Amino acid sequence: MSSTVLVINSGSSSIKYQLLDPADGTSLASGLVERIGESEGHLEHRAGGETVERNDPVPDHGEGLRTVLELFDTVGPQLSDAGIVAVGHRVVMGGKQYDGPTLIDEDVIATIDRLSPLAPLHNPPNLAGIKVARELLPDVPHVAVFDTAFFRRLPAAAGNYALNKEVAERYQVYRYGAHGTSHQYVSGQVAKLVGGGDDLRQIVLHLGNGASVSAVVGDRAVETSMGMTPLEGLVMGTRTGDMDPAIIFHLARVAGMDVDEIDTLVNKRSGLKGLTGENDLRMVHRMADDGSADARLALDVYAHRIRKYIGSYAAVMGGLDALSFTAGGGENDAVMRAKVAKGLQFLGIEVDEERNAVRSKEARVISPDGARVTVLVVPTNEELTIARQAVSLL
Ligand code: AMP
Repeated sequence: MSSTVLVINSGSSSIKYQLLDPADGTSLASGLVERIGESEGHLEHRAGGETVERNDPVPDHGEGLRTVLELFDTVGPQLSDAGIVAVGHRVVMGGKQYDGPTLIDEDVIATIDRLSPLAPLHNPPNLAGIKVARELLPDVPHVAVFDTAFFRRLPAAAGNYALNKEVAERYQVYRYGAHGTSHQYVSGQVAKLVGGGDDLRQIVLHLGNGASVSAVVGDRAVETSMGMTPLEGLVMGTRTGDMDPAIIFHLARVAGMDVDEIDTLVNKRSGLKGLTGENDLRMVHRMADDGSADARLALDVYAHRIRKYIGSYAAVMGGLDALSFTAGGGENDAVMRAKVAKGLQFLGIEVDEERNAVRSKEARVISPDGARVTVLVVPTNEELTIARQAVSLL
């Protein structure tokens, strides 16, 4: 019987899960519970080519996970026969404490809880998932895999803000990054594909609903665009990314908005959605094709920001050998990939039109043969990385 890992990603009102074989990446079952705490919940369990859906209310994470385990029992695969060797939990904020996967005990739970002020929307639901999963599956080790771990060793020049030192220390205001699991997986795949060594200089563009970019030399991240929180950096589905922080004072003083309103504005009502009304790149392209000037501007702002980061990260590394695109937009949006690469030949970046147009779930090179920088599309797989990191501890 093969060994499997149950990977759990517990969000504020959702639980996503996947049972997979870390050796070959086979997914035996996956699913999600959504709208936890709302009047009508939604649950989807996929296994053996079948999908079971339910729309009953799910009052809390405990009930959600209990229902998932029941579905494993009734629909399959039977967890008792699945050879589970660990449960891997995605945890967003590991602060300065964690630079790799960590076996969860009471101390780790207390530390994740203590780090909650740095990720108030993420760590509490991550922790809720950990607590119920440990109750329901007490006989296997539970491992926390932190979104920040890959960036824990950022060089000090990249990891610090020029904020007053005492204030930064007292309130732990540093650049922690996020999406680390994806950046680590994709940069590792790129290194394998291009046969890179310790001096391979690469940029990874994770363009999903949340978006971030990292610079990686060898297997070490040296820069990343998300900061103390995931708000910093690229333009995202609903987040502004970088902006002048004084805009916040302006909105407070002139528009009379309070902190929570501004928080919601910049995190949930801005980015592509704020510029066009749509947070999904596909819709924004459609609007642009139909003549919307707002959508065209949004695509320009989105690509411009990415190009600025590519230039600055190439400068940080003193050159560039590989550039990869990943996540929903990066993997599927050939038009955006071409727009990002256009005019960057001076850095050695070129995209071959035919290769870029190929649709595939496989990792692939889209630069022409002999190009100075290898440009790739690499599908990310955060669940597999979490599963592999979990077993690496056992
Ligand atoms: P993720 O967060 O990785 O699941 O990515 C979700 C996002 O990927 C969506 O909001 C879209 O912006 C983008 N996306 C997915 N498929 C496509 C596509 N075919 N073309 C352009 N963007 C896409």
